[in-house]
Amino acid sequence: MPTIYLALGSNLGDRFANLQAAMVALPPAVLVLEQSPVYETPPWGLMDQPAFLNMVLKGRTQLEPLLLLTYLKQLETRLGREPAARWGPRLIDLDILFYADLVLATPQLTLPHPRLSERAFVLVPLADLAPGLVHPLLGLSVRNLLASVDTTGVKRYEPGA
Ligand code: AMP
Repeated sequence: MPTIYLALGSNLGDRFANLQAAMVALPPAVLVLEQSPVYETPPWGLMDQPAFLNMVLKGRTQLEPLLLLTYLKQLETRLGREPAARWGPRLIDLDILFYADLVLATPQLTLPHPRLSERAFVLVPLADLAPGLVHPLLGLSVRNLLASVDTTGVKRYEPGA
């Protein structure tokens, strides 16, 4: 079964509970193998919105890439996400970072995720799980990609702390 990496984000409601709910809802279509710590990160894109909680999961799935995307979008809706502005606040956001070492560019799905190399809030938790993973297009490891982004403001989040 292909190995996948998913990015989870939330900046509305009980953000930590939203991440947990998504993780619990992923199986059996997605088997979760490892989870990164949770990080709190300043808003990205639209600045006037609450801070995000972000994390990354390593998993396996038998779903083909486009079916996986459809499944994740349905899950977002099931967990209460409403259509909203691009980059705007969201209850839950589920993105596919890597699907094995597949490179794909279709209108619905781009793999690896097209913006992962510029996002500290993705690279920090991804580096916790897979620092040596090599980006199949860029030829750089996650560790190297992380070294070239500004990680200011990306902080470990402990619920209840
Ligand atoms: P978002 O607003 O982040 O949930 O994503 C908006 C759209 O990005 C989705 O509806 C997908 O069609 C598209 N998309 C393209 N590549 C990806 C990817 N690797 N993971 C998730 N969504 C993607």
